[in-house]
Parts: sequence; C-alpha cells; structure tokens
Amino acid sequence: MPHPNADNLRFPPPRLPPEVAALRAEVRAFLAESFSNEAWPRNSDFGAGFSPDFTRKIAAKGWVGMTWPKKYGGQERSMLERYVVTEELLAAGAPVFAHWIADRQSGPLLLRFGSEAQRETVLPRITAGECFFSIGMSEPDSGSDLASVRTRAERTSQGWRLNGAKVWTSNAHHNHFMITLCRTGDAGEDRHGGLSQFLIDLKNDGVAINPIINMLGGHEFNEVVFDDVEIPADRLIGGEGDGWRQVTSELAYERSGPERFLSNFHVFRALVDEVGPSPDARQAEGLGRLASRLWTLRRMSLSVAAMLGAGDAPDVEAAIVKDLGNRFEREVVETARMILPLQPSGLAGANQNDFAATMAEAILRLPSFTLRGGTTEIMRSIIARGLGLR
Ligand SMILES: Cc1cc2nc3c(=O)[nH]c(=O)nc-3n(C[C@H](O)[C@H](O)[C@H](O)COP(=O)(O)OP(=O)(O)OC[C@H]3O[C@@H](n4cnc5c(N)ncnc54)[C@H](O)[C@@H]3O)c2cc1C
Repeated sequence: MPHPNADNLRFPPPRLPPEVAALRAEVRAFLAESFSNEAWPRNSDFGAGFSPDFTRKIAAKGWVGMTWPKKYGGQERSMLERYVVTEELLAAGAPVFAHWIADRQSGPLLLRFGSEAQRETVLPRITAGECFFSIGMSEPDSGSDLASVRTRAERTSQGWRLNGAKVWTSNAHHNHFMITLCRTGDAGEDRHGGLSQFLIDLKNDGVAINPIINMLGGHEFNEVVFDDVEIPADRLIGGEGDGWRQVTSELAYERSGPERFLSNFHVFRALVDEVGPSPDARQAEGLGRLASRLWTLRRMSLSVAAMLGAGDAPDVEAAIVKDLGNRFEREVVETARMILPLQPSGLAGANQNDFAATMAEAILRLPSFTLRGGTTEIMRSIIARGLGLR
C-alpha cells in the first residue's frame, strides 16, 4: 500500500513537444558523422571523457547553455529539448565532461543568483564552449554534511581572503573556474547560516591544485588548496550568507539528469550485443528487467526536467531519480555477471570493443556512482523527510 504522503511526490507524465523529434535526429546525425570523421574518445561514463575540442563543436551547434537567454549566447530552448540533447550525447558515449558542470549547474546558478557583470563575463564563454567549471563543495572533513565546511573567506579592504581546502574536485586541473562554498560568518542555530559562494578563477587566483589518482589510475580528481588567496569583492555570488540556499538549489540539477542512470548504458548495450539474438530464458528475463527499469527511470527523469523547466524545486523527486538510477547502474553490472560466464579483465581504454574489458572498467567505476552528487544514505534521508517519515 502506498504511504499516505506519497501523494506529495510529483512525477507528472512528461510530454515531449513535437520539435524534439527533429532535434533528436539532428543530434544523432551529428554524432554519427563526428565519430566517423574524428578520433573522439568514446567515454564509458559522463565523468570520464574530457575533450575541449568536442565541446567547442557542440557549442557551435548551440547545444551548450541551450536554455539560456540569447543575450548570453544561449538559444532559449526548453529543458526538454536540452534533455534530448544530453541523453543522446550520453547514450553515444560522447566526451562531454569539459562543459558538463558549467552547462548543467554553474551557468544556471549564475543566471539565477550571479551579478550582471558575472553573467556577462562568464556565460558567453560557456556557450562558446571555451570556459569550464568545477564544483567546490566537498572538503577533507565535509562531504555529506556540507553545512560543516571550514574553508573560510574573510573580508579585506580589497575583497576577500580565502583559507582552507576542497577535495575530490573533478577536473580542477583543466577547468577555468570553480564555484566554491565557504564560511563567511557564524553558522547560527540551524547550522546553515554564514555560508557564501564565490567565483574562483582557477588559472589566475593563486590556488594550489594537487592531483588525486582514482582506482583506475586516472587523474580526474584534485585537492584545491587556498592559502591566503586574495580575490576581489565582486566574486561573491548572490548575497553574503545566502550560500546554503544557493548551493541546495544547484543540487536538483545535479541529481536528476540522465547521467544518473546512463553511466552504464554502454555496458547494457554491449551486454545485449554479447547475448545475441537468441537469449535463453534467464538472459531474456535479465535483459527485460533492465529495459523496463531504464524506461521507467527515463520517464521519471524527464518529468523532473519538465518541473525544473517550469521553475519548480523537485528536490525529493530528483533524489529518488538519483537513488533508483544508481541502483539501476549497479544492476546492469550484476545482471551481466549473472547471465554471461565471463572473467572481467584488462581495461576498456585498451580495447573498447572487448566486453571483458568494458566490464572491468565498469566494476572499478561503480563505487563512485553512489558517492558523487550525494550518497545513497543522503538521498534516502531527503526522500524520507519529503515523505514526512522523519
Ligand atoms: C567521481 C566523483 C566525483 C566527485 N566530484 C566532486 C566535485 O567535483 N566537487 C565536489 O565538491 N565533490 C565531488 N565529489 C565528492 C562527493 O560529493 C562526496 O564524496 C560525497 O558528497 C560524499 O562525501 P564524503 O566522501 O565526504 O563521505 P562522507 O560524507 O564522509 O560519508 C561517508 C559515509 O557515511 C554516510 N553518511 C554520512 N552522513 C550520513 C548521515 N547523515 N546519515 C546516514 N549516513 C551518512 C555516507 O552515506 C557514506 O556512506 C566527487 C565524488 C566522486 C566519487
């Protein structure tokens, strides 16, 4: 029996406008041509393929910042049109990570809370595919509990002085800017006061960026250290002390998109090919279950995209999509291990057509999916609160 408060959840059936069919065809044709003409690295996960070249090409098509106002280089298209572009890019394994964070959350945050000068300086560079962003939330002792961040910004006569460190900062070594959550005052009784966000210029502000190597031996993460880093006053984003409200508004964008269930789509597709046209009963059941889950998740995620486009704040629904999406990504790998006798070996980078190597990489990446963007326990706490259970 559904919980009585389940009525609070909104997953209105998404209605894709007719123009998306033509857009989808356009994206597919572009990808087919791009992959046949250029040696793009097909990535196994949205966080794995960083290609400024590819980003510039899709920016030229108008697909970066495509929902933003034209005066900043956007196309004023709908969230559902953006959804179609992002899901096609992800399904094809396109190397999207260079622009992903700026397009998904940093640009929208600046549009909503940034000053006009910040928008004019940064947004046209993002839509041109020339300016990439990092997320500066997590710290060595603050991940899930973001309100406990200790990086501090103090006012000076010129602006602000920052001290502290951020950790797990994806691609800080490549990116141009980081939106950083800092303590600027007392936490207050609810612990959410006294936080502010700043625009940090990763190339010019004098921050130290130290690599952290992941389990695959790759350099994707970093530690970013602020040691008396001086920044001008106009880098404060929004109001002083408004950091908590602002950072939480970013998270619905971060949690609900198709990247939260398509990270192992390439494994699913390879599994279907590997099983071939005559699956036995166990294989058919496993693949059928995955296909039905994928379809449901897609409808839920589309529904959240439509609500975001309408200006709603579907935080609980986004947390549900992330939690179920991460569970699906694990099930893809588990199903593959159940229905095919295989020994994962090597890494996909070495031979992307080798299913055993694809599986080896997927197994090593899997633990990170439930951590990034908020852990399973945190998603379930948000859902429980949303249902009035705690
Ligand atoms: C691939 C990847 C990319 C990332 N990129 C970035 C980035 O670019 N920028 C950035 O800022 N961060 C990034 N992160 C960090 C990520 O956001 C954090 O790892 C995540 O928020 C969890 O924080 P933590 O690692 O400190 O774990 P902790 O918060 O210490 O959690 C440890 C464990 O305790 C559990 N736990 C914690 N609190 C509670 C609670 N209240 N109730 C129940 N259980 C709890 C957690 O669920 C988890 O299982 C990235 C992480 C990964 C894996």
